[in-house]
Amino acid sequence: MQSGDLEMRLILIGPQGSGKGTQGKLLQHEYGWLPISSGDLIRARIKNDPSFDEKYGISKGNLLPDDIITQMIKERIKEKDCEKGYILDGFPRKIKQAEVLDTMIKVDYALLIDVPDKESIKRLSARWQCKGCNKIYGLNEAPPKVCPCGGEVYQREDDKPAAIKKRLELYHKETEPILGYYEKQGKLLKVNGKGTVEEVFEKIKKVLGK
Ligand SMILES: [Zn+2]
Repeated sequence: MQSGDLEMRLILIGPQGSGKGTQGKLLQHEYGWLPISSGDLIRARIKNDPSFDEKYGISKGNLLPDDIITQMIKERIKEKDCEKGYILDGFPRKIKQAEVLDTMIKVDYALLIDVPDKESIKRLSARWQCKGCNKIYGLNEAPPKVCPCGGEVYQREDDKPAAIKKRLELYHKETEPILGYYEKQGKLLKVNGKGTVEEVFEKIKKVLGK
């Protein structure tokens, strides 16, 4: 398949809690572009092969080496379900990765969903998840102790306040500089991430010219 045939190669950028995952799903539903989350790819890989985690110490908070994650993305975007287009979430997360990505594909747009730190922290620390079906709770109402599926509802280690602060620091230091990188190429789009999911989605469609 020629990558030139795709409708959209979009990169979503935003701090944790900016709603990238949710907006990616809405874009998929509306346009058929596949959201690819580097975090999901890595979690799926570990599920199939626990030695992958032991080798790279991912659950201890280490990041995958650039060449490994780049290779995983490279293979994933060749699959059939990406034929209409795709949305990368969590990659590239630093300038070096953005440069390598430019040698692999022609990025159409990088879209920033901008949310202040205070709001990210508020949203993430309210986020709880079901161990059974992975449903996310707590965004609009208090989470139940047990999910209707029977699974335990818990707060992920990486959604606890100290971990959130660390991730936001890393975002400002390593990921934010790639905004300038795409701006220079005339590919940067920005939306304010405040408001309801629907309101933000309307803003995204508008900047994409849809
Ligand atoms: Zn559940």
